[in-house]
Amino acid sequence: MSKKIAVLPGDGIGPEVTTQAVRVLEAIRSDFEFETALVGGAAYDDSGHPLPASTLDLCRASDAVLFGAVGGPKYDKIQPPEMRPEVGALLPLRSELNLYANVRPAKTMKALLSSSPLRGDRGRMDLVVMRELTGGIYFARPRERRDNGNTAVDTCIYRRHEVVRIAEHAFAIARQRRREIVSVDKANVLETSRLWREVVTEMAQSNPDVKVTHMLVDNCAMQLVRDPGQFDVILTENMFGDILSDEASMITGSLGLLPSASLSDPKDGTVFGLYEPIHGSAPDIAGLNKANPIAAILSAAMLLRYSFNDTENAERIEAAVESVLEDGLRTADIAGTETSPITTVEMGDAILSALK
Ligand code: NAD
Repeated sequence: MSKKIAVLPGDGIGPEVTTQAVRVLEAIRSDFEFETALVGGAAYDDSGHPLPASTLDLCRASDAVLFGAVGGPKYDKIQPPEMRPEVGALLPLRSELNLYANVRPAKTMKALLSSSPLRGDRGRMDLVVMRELTGGIYFARPRERRDNGNTAVDTCIYRRHEVVRIAEHAFAIARQRRREIVSVDKANVLETSRLWREVVTEMAQSNPDVKVTHMLVDNCAMQLVRDPGQFDVILTENMFGDILSDEASMITGSLGLLPSASLSDPKDGTVFGLYEPIHGSAPDIAGLNKANPIAAILSAAMLLRYSFNDTENAERIEAAVESVLEDGLRTADIAGTETSPITTVEMGDAILSALK
């Protein structure tokens, strides 16, 4: 039976990089049926809403979602702000589809080690940040001003079940890797962190095949710069994960290369998810055939791994990407001054022929 993939290219370079990811999936699987829908600014221009009901319905009726990027200067002033692409499309997509587990691998590619801001071998790293995505301080209420605007209040709430379900994903992913989780919190200060640590400690006892340690977030930020190679899976709450995953991505030296997944509840060994590059819509290079499609293509590999349990093809894609980079092929963002850059489509072509 064929599987349905919702393709939401979005804005800016989103359509250019998503097209290359779809080409790769088409080459590798004959049982995928792709259906495209508008999201973000493109949807707003078309229907006045960044996340039309028909787009959400398509996602719900699909086995996985491949997402490009949304936003751009044209949409920055839309009123009310809830109708802007990032707020009006991405946040409701995550909550409506119950995508509470954000998985961000950050791996330095051998061929690009010199792009890392850490010198020599110190940038060598292969880790995954597992970030809780729908709870914590970004979502809890009240969030308000008091005292004539002179006092600001944010609230952080975590419930036991929210920690349990994200930690379950972390254990599952650790089992596909080196079986080591560092759970990151601020348990010396925050009550939500003390609950987090308590729950993860209990779960570690019933999952003895995975090594679990705990680290305070400030130490983790420092350790990532000192020795990023020490980490396998970093499990953490929403705001800490937001910051640490960006820090980890910068160490790879190449934002255009990094994929991500946002996952829902696991079911029968697979999981519904939305897969997207971590970069934005890059309006400065949109439409110029200059964007690096590798992050989108590696997002397609994650889609195969998590939503279809197809590790073999995921690894084939990852190996094809590594091999074109080792051959010295570079889009403009990673070309430096010595290599002449290739286009988005040429990079897609090269990865397709490396697959064969
Ligand atoms: P950005 O990631 O779009 O771009 C930052 C810089 O990196 C730019 O110079 C861009 O040209 C470059 N870049 C990004 N991806 C690249 C790629 N694949 N290949 C080559 N170069 C690449 O971030 P920004 O400029 O801060 O944001 C632009 C727009 O994207 C904003 O509207 C922002 O809100 C939105 N955004 C969307 C998402 C998303 O859809 N998930 C994420 C981040 C930003």
